[in-house]
Amino acid sequence: MAETKSTCCYCGVGCGVVIEHEAGRITGVRGDPDHPANFGRLCTKGSTLHLTAAPETQVARALYPELRTDRSSTRQRVSWDAALDAAAERFAAIIAEHGPDAVAVYGAGQLLTEDYYVFNKLMKGLVGSNNLDTNSRLCMSSAVAGYKLSLGADAPPCSYADIAHTSALFITGSNTAFAHPIAFRRVEDARKANPGMKLVVIDPRRTDTAEAADLHLALLPGTDIALYNAMLHVMLWEGWVDRNYIDAHTEGFDALKKTVREYTPAMAATICGLDKKLIEEAAQIFATSKATMSMYCQGLNQFSFGTHNNSALINLHLASGQIGRPGAGPFSLTGQPNAMGGREVGGLANLLSAHRDMANPEHRSEVAALWGVDNVPDKPGKSAVELFRALKSGDVKAVWIACTNPAQSMPDQALIHEALQAAEFVVVQEAFSHTETCTYADLLLPATTWGEKDGTVTNSERAISRVRSAVSAPGEARHDWAIVVDFARRLGARLGKGELAARMFPYAKPEEIWNEHRESTRGRDLDITGLSYATLENVGPQQWPFPEGASQGKVRLYEDGIFPTPSGKARFVVTEHRITAESPSARYPLHLNTGRLRDQWHGMSRTGLVARLYSHEPEPMLHMHKDDMERRSLASGDLVKVKSRRGEVVLKVLESATLRPGQCFVPMHWGGNTMGGQGVNVLLPGDFDPYSKQPELKHAAVQVEKYTAGKALVAMRRTKVGEDGQLHPNPLAVMEGLRRWLPHFPYASLTLAGRTAPVVVLKARGEELAPALLEALDKELALDDPTKVLSYQDSRKDIAKRALVEGDSLTAVRLAGETRAAEWLADMMVQGHSAAAVRQWLLAPLTQPPAGQAARGKVICNCFDVAEDDILAAFRAGESLEALQTRTKCGTNCGSCVPELKRLRLSISI
Ligand code: SF4
Repeated sequence: MAETKSTCCYCGVGCGVVIEHEAGRITGVRGDPDHPANFGRLCTKGSTLHLTAAPETQVARALYPELRTDRSSTRQRVSWDAALDAAAERFAAIIAEHGPDAVAVYGAGQLLTEDYYVFNKLMKGLVGSNNLDTNSRLCMSSAVAGYKLSLGADAPPCSYADIAHTSALFITGSNTAFAHPIAFRRVEDARKANPGMKLVVIDPRRTDTAEAADLHLALLPGTDIALYNAMLHVMLWEGWVDRNYIDAHTEGFDALKKTVREYTPAMAATICGLDKKLIEEAAQIFATSKATMSMYCQGLNQFSFGTHNNSALINLHLASGQIGRPGAGPFSLTGQPNAMGGREVGGLANLLSAHRDMANPEHRSEVAALWGVDNVPDKPGKSAVELFRALKSGDVKAVWIACTNPAQSMPDQALIHEALQAAEFVVVQEAFSHTETCTYADLLLPATTWGEKDGTVTNSERAISRVRSAVSAPGEARHDWAIVVDFARRLGARLGKGELAARMFPYAKPEEIWNEHRESTRGRDLDITGLSYATLENVGPQQWPFPEGASQGKVRLYEDGIFPTPSGKARFVVTEHRITAESPSARYPLHLNTGRLRDQWHGMSRTGLVARLYSHEPEPMLHMHKDDMERRSLASGDLVKVKSRRGEVVLKVLESATLRPGQCFVPMHWGGNTMGGQGVNVLLPGDFDPYSKQPELKHAAVQVEKYTAGKALVAMRRTKVGEDGQLHPNPLAVMEGLRRWLPHFPYASLTLAGRTAPVVVLKARGEELAPALLEALDKELALDDPTKVLSYQDSRKDIAKRALVEGDSLTAVRLAGETRAAEWLADMMVQGHSAAAVRQWLLAPLTQPPAGQAARGKVICNCFDVAEDDILAAFRAGESLEALQTRTKCGTNCGSCVPELKRLRLSISI
């Protein structure tokens, strides 16, 4: 067995991993003990990365270029030459006829820095258009704009090490326990080491992060600015501001002071729905603690005033001098693994390389000189929402989508689907062929992914890590950067810029690209001229800036109180409370909040391949307060129709004590591949922040009503490990087969259950279950041979059961009408229990599971497969958390479930 050090490809914590591999296959993964982001720890997602490269996942991979000649035909396999020539022809023809702004690239925060660099150079240098945006627009662009507006540069001033030095940590707009679990492990460690440290969480929901806090401010969604302004008001009133720091290192305080005079705690308490004493307490902790740090994420960024959310928080740090010292400062947690790297190379429609400013003619000239072109365009390109609107209107005609899935992740999904349909030419460069966006690809280009790629990423704390290839690319997949370089040369030739393109894209390996990027940072705030691939490999990850001659990167920025603004001073930004793009109304009375699940990542194109990652929350669910449920006569497990001004989805409802009345919550991961319709983002608005252009993915106003129409259907197929060590049938192939049924139902969920031998689970509800539909579905599930299948039908009682029992195991089952035993049957299939009980149940007019045989409930500890019901039973029986952990090992490996274990323990004590 061989080992290769690399980096986790999920969140911006940027944990180091050691990939174990043998004979060209990835066999395991563990945390890299030497990596400064995680020191050997991994969360549930990181620790299952190897399972996303298991043999059965190959059916989900894009392996060969595929091209279709027109929209009515299906894509056919073609050679790379044919694929890239076709792309170059189409792009060149569109540019010739309509100009360079008629084409666009839409990339991802999951691309490596080298990939980003060449995409940026292709569009802004060779094509001559700034139409290069990425999905980082959806998560981090307000943090970028906030840092630039307030501090002068897109540079998070803190490090993870600061968590151990802080005496008051404000986590705001982030469920860190779920979204950045390994950073949260550090918070737990810091509190253990320093029991006096205060944790204040500002979040509309009582998440696991909030549950752990000393103080939780459950403000109404989108009211952060009012809260921060009121906190500043209190600081001023009490004389807690740091006048010396303000005078020496900032500007614009007087204007802000005038504004926050209006924001009394009483006024903000009304806006935020908080007790004013909580606001005063939070202000006191923030201003008077020895070192205050804030960590924040999408809860600030994803609003149509996200930039000012960021600046209002940074105002507090500047006013109290809580910045530039150990344990103090505003620290944005990056959502994606390399959104930071993308920002460094200028990979957004309004940025230029190495934090240069597109509006600055000198900066444009510097970039043009670095690239050897006459100029780079000065007009900002189209940001994500603008780009898809332009595709729909026809202003942009061709789009190249790389490593992202806008047909799941963008807001206002109906518009996105229409835009992709309207586009003249859609190229999708992807590792996985099953994403919602691939459906629209005229040209599908197979790309390498984690475990195969080679390059660098930058995490939340400005640390650059190497990403290394452990195994070779499957099929004909190629590295993202190599695809771009090959295409650029072909496009250049067709644009009459063949020589230029050859000069601009000479690279044979990613290190050459990175070295050019390194040179572009010389003299800039993120100068990395003192680094090399060799240093990153031999010494380990390094933080920027790291200029030539330096012996180490900077752990903390602005320690000298000098900021990268023309005056050298940080800027107070006047921020005013604004209402969300949509307010609840009589017709849409509820706030809908969105967020992350612990075990899923973004659109699930990777985590959705691993059965155990569904066990914590097995299907799309709307979380709701019990008062709102009672008002609608709802019980957990009922189906509800959730409707916003743009669209609707049908999904299950789950009572949740984490929410205040009047609010509901839906996880952001579920798209048209795992549920009926176009996924949950059909509900969210495309309104965006005027500075950052980041859309308001955090909030919509919705109505919720019980959904009872039609008949229920459950179809399940079990897999087993064969003698060859492979799964039979391949669960992902079964899923793919069942996926085409999703559009037939208003409610549908398609997921996996179990661990080593997953069960594919389709749940649906349709207006009517036509016999032809059931027949076709039975065929898909191997339930079509009457000599082998057990069946029971009672139309009067609406019971129709069909099952295949092989040996001692239930292999496949389909229930139509009555489905109350579905969870129990799924458990029976997962556990592989004796089929005798199932056989008896199937052949009788029974609808409920046999007495005493309920399903085991959701799995809390994914590492050791410990379910909630078992944990609660143990606590009720008087077992302590420590004893439970000793007995079952739950929470003793990755630790992702520890906050939830503590919450469950507490719920029993109460
Ligand atoms: Fe990966 Fe988890 Fe670390 Fe994020 S916290 S980088 S998902 S292992």
